Amino acid sequence: MLFDTHAHLNDEQYKDDLQEVIKRAQKEGVSNMVVVGFDRQTIEKAMELAKNYEFIYACIGWHPVDAIDMTPEDLLWIEELSAHPKVVALGEMGLDYHWDKSPKDIQKEVFRKQIRLAKKVKLPIVIHNREATGDIVEILKEEGAEEVGGIMHCFSGSPEIAKECMNMNFYISLGGPVTFKNAKKPKEVAAEVPLDKLLIETDCPYLAPHPFRGKRNEPAYVKLVAEQIAEIKGVSVEEIAEATTRNAKKLFAIK
Ligand SMILES: [Zn+2]
Ligand SMILES: [Zn+2]
Repeated sequence: MLFDTHAHLNDEQYKDDLQEVIKRAQKEGVSNMVVVGFDRQTIEKAMELAKNYEFIYACIGWHPVDAIDMTPEDLLWIEELSAHPKVVALGEMGLDYHWDKSPKDIQKEVFRKQIRLAKKVKLPIVIHNREATGDIVEILKEEGAEEVGGIMHCFSGSPEIAKECMNMNFYISLGGPVTFKNAKKPKEVAAEVPLDKLLIETDCPYLAPHPFRGKRNEPAYVKLVAEQIAEIKGVSVEEIAEATTRNAKKLFAIK
């Protein structure tokens, strides 16, 4: 049993073959998936998938790249939807300094508002971080995000930063990059993060693992992530699957 904790099955790239993509995932042993919506359109689609499939859950929030577009009504709407039993986390939220569509101060404000909302509705948060580690850690501390905890999704930082995040009640989630030959840091993180703090994800359709790098990613490939981590840790893939599924169910409060 594998748990893909971060998938964008609501992406346009699956509009023609979503059924087959889901079937392939189940065939590879993916028992649960969390579909992440990060704007009006993708949140609506994530909710629809979560309502239609027993094994799909939704994570909803506002992406930092589009922070500049978020209105007070959007935040209220997310709060209303968060009461739905299939919504298991808020996000993805955070900071992305790679793209400059939204100024940093607006990204920070939208990030803080979502952390406060998560504390209000008592849901864990899923953090997107691109080239913004220092500011993210600072905001998580200042806002007391430890209270709800959550996931550092597609973690690409050092083992030291991973430790700092784990101390703040966050799980470390690894995706396709851990399988890339030149990915030194994710491999170090895979080696050092204890099994009870580790999660796996695809972030599909992005970041397909080796040997599909550069192609469209899908939840079935989360198995390749689990296999790579098992090899690094010197344990069986079943052990990785079991631990990461148990962790995800605990965090998302899924029975
Ligand atoms: Zn992300
Ligand atoms: Zn994502």
